[in-house]
Amino acid sequence: MKVSFAHMGNTYIALAGALKFLGAEFIVPPYTTKKTLNLGSKHSPEVVCLPYKLVMGNYLEAIEAGADAILMIDSPGTCRLGQYSQSARTAIKDLGHNVEFINLDLYKGKMLELYRGFKKATGNSNPIDLARAINVSLLKIDMLDRLDEVYSYVRARELIKGTARKAHNKALKLLDDAITNSQCKTALKEGLEVLNRVPVDPNRDVLNIDITGEIFVVIDKFSNMDIEDELGKRGVHVHRKIRLSNWTNTFIKPMTKFEDTHEGKMKVLARDFIKRDVGGDALESIGDTIYAGNNKSDGVIHLLPFTCMPEIISQNILSNVTREKNIPVLSLILDEFSGKAGFITRLEAFVDLAKRRRDSKVRVKQAL
Ligand code: SF4
Repeated sequence: MKVSFAHMGNTYIALAGALKFLGAEFIVPPYTTKKTLNLGSKHSPEVVCLPYKLVMGNYLEAIEAGADAILMIDSPGTCRLGQYSQSARTAIKDLGHNVEFINLDLYKGKMLELYRGFKKATGNSNPIDLARAINVSLLKIDMLDRLDEVYSYVRARELIKGTARKAHNKALKLLDDAITNSQCKTALKEGLEVLNRVPVDPNRDVLNIDITGEIFVVIDKFSNMDIEDELGKRGVHVHRKIRLSNWTNTFIKPMTKFEDTHEGKMKVLARDFIKRDVGGDALESIGDTIYAGNNKSDGVIHLLPFTCMPEIISQNILSNVTREKNIPVLSLILDEFSGKAGFITRLEAFVDLAKRRRDSKVRVKQAL
């Protein structure tokens, strides 16, 4: 059985890591492009959110490439996410594709569900192998976030444009090639060395901007038009608050206490502005913005897919947070019709505004 899955940024490295460890045959679908989006949109309901269309495009391209089984994540349904896997399964069957669907209900089954899913996908039923493969996958998720964090610092301060990106790609390749736990640790060490060798100006005056919003569009660089690199090129140190490792810590790792997780902490912060969970990542978007305001960040960019119900609610609440915490927020809505030129113009205007605002605060302080 050739198994495949959808993309979400670089998370394919973690999923492929577990499948490689178990010796499975698998297909990494081509990374999302405009063609993927067109294909996904053609076979999706018109008003469904952007992540669904992209994921659908990935599934169809994986099937074209020869996949005969698809790993899908199931989830509870406060928003449309609860219907994602069922709708995708029905649409793929209606198109006449005879593929097996391996659903992972991670919110309910956590580690056990990963165990069951990888066993079914690979045919390997050795419990020690399966436990070690899951461990490699979770480790790679933590390491991807660590690499992104260092990349973000280096990119904003690099002396030669583009060197940080090359170093980051090299570090990702090292991690992707690692198979065992100890190989991953070596790959991370070498990857960090590669990134730290990029010539930088540590004293450069950079802007600090936080990014929050719906997890898929925050993490996936195709859907967010590579926002982090675009900001980095303009001298912004990006602090991405929504990370896959936060999610695995909250929902997968068995020993973590909810109140110690990013989600748990943001929920407490958001309480003054919203009383109940409205699904998706809405509470985290609000909590992250309050945190940014309390910690004197220069601004927040809030990313949301068009028609995303939870983030429409948070977007409305963020105007109150902006006023109370005195923090500029730019909400960017993403869909298949978003054009890059207009997107960049808005980013540049926001960066200018955040910079002038910060500089005038410094001038006022100096005058006092
Ligand atoms: S959080 Fe928003 S974008 Fe994500 S599935 Fe729910 S409605 Fe769609």
